[in-house]
Amino acid sequence: MSPKILTDLKQEVTQLLSELIRIDTTNPPGNETKAANYIAQYLINEGFKTEIIESAPGRGSVITRLKGTGEKPSLLLLSHLDVVAANPNEWTVNPFAGAVKDGYVYGRGAYDMKCMTAIEILVITLLKKNNVKLKGDIVLAATADEEQGGEAGAGYLLRHHREKLWCPYVINEGGGLAFPSKNGYVFPIQTAEKGILWLKIKAKGTPGHGSTPNTADNAVLRIIRVIDKLANYKPQTIYVSTLKEFLAEMGRQNPDLKPTFARLLANPAQSEQILDELAKKNRALAEEIRPRTKMTIAPTMIRGGVKENIIPSDCEAVFDCRILPGQKVNETVDLIKGLLKDVGLDKLSFEFIQAHDGSESSANTPLYDIIGGVLREFEPGCGVTPTLTTGGTDSRFFREVGSVCYGFQPMIPDEPNDQLEERMHGIDERITIENLFYGTSILYETVKRFMT
Ligand SMILES: [Zn+2]
Repeated sequence: MSPKILTDLKQEVTQLLSELIRIDTTNPPGNETKAANYIAQYLINEGFKTEIIESAPGRGSVITRLKGTGEKPSLLLLSHLDVVAANPNEWTVNPFAGAVKDGYVYGRGAYDMKCMTAIEILVITLLKKNNVKLKGDIVLAATADEEQGGEAGAGYLLRHHREKLWCPYVINEGGGLAFPSKNGYVFPIQTAEKGILWLKIKAKGTPGHGSTPNTADNAVLRIIRVIDKLANYKPQTIYVSTLKEFLAEMGRQNPDLKPTFARLLANPAQSEQILDELAKKNRALAEEIRPRTKMTIAPTMIRGGVKENIIPSDCEAVFDCRILPGQKVNETVDLIKGLLKDVGLDKLSFEFIQAHDGSESSANTPLYDIIGGVLREFEPGCGVTPTLTTGGTDSRFFREVGSVCYGFQPMIPDEPNDQLEERMHGIDERITIENLFYGTSILYETVKRFMT
């Protein structure tokens, strides 16, 4: 493409992101239809047909399709329109003004993930403008509700309108931010994510006077035993294939860490000790890997008692459990109940707040190979690795119904990765204009190569 087109492209993607940030889609309540309408109008002006589907009033998602010949499988460019809340008093700029300054676009959603929405819109528009002869359909969907679990967005669309957006391949958020290594950069491609089990456990007892505790059955004491059992449980180490490939590639890219990763790979049963040793040298890395080797159970809330002198008959605790791909929610609940047998299951009740299995896609596909090939052209010598995230994205809905999904939002860090990631749901979220352009260029090349 000519320098003029490239400069225009940079301006276009910057402006589009800025406009999207100005449409406040804080979820709850979401109000994504406003953003969906804006995108639909943009695409209509570029000659696309679009459809807005609402799961409830105001909760809109937008879909469009660029037709191919059908010789190749279709590809969905997925993003979510909603954002998490932002407190303007904590920010140095208005989080919903879409400020462009010092080479950055600032605002809630700049990184998670309206930048990707803007990039994907530009990619599909450019493919159309450039008259690229596509061998498969490209679908674009910008959806509601991801930040609250996605049931009113991607989940709803797949349940009620699957034919309009389902594709065998999906590109979404969750990976792509390069991290520095000895040889340059390693790009993680999200191929797997953990499942969630938010479990409320309520303990029942019998009330009594605080001055004669032995006559009562104290529910707080029962919950303490529950927390003690679950927090001290040592889950089995299981390496899913994504983690094995991650450790192998990280070893290749970081020669000084190679022996540690080789030991980790060879000795799952000793993973805790090996990670403890690694933590002494590189704590961030060790604690990044540790939760990826097993399920985790963290008590996060506790509530009980009504008065200083009443022995409480009710107490409840909430647990945030994250399970590996392959581990099932119902099996996990059975396991937890088994651990609590001698606490008295008849005095405990269990309530799901949110629960779904993890998911994993193979890294052994033509799309994965093309992503790797394009990245190595842009960054000669870089590493590319599949990665498992501890948090969830809408990809899980698509993996559940057979799609191969990759979290791939290509970016070069402009500050330390942990600071960058903190901004995501934090203060002064932003993205460099260079990264917007970089992401657009890489995604355009990837999609074009995959589809021609
Ligand atoms: Zn997101």
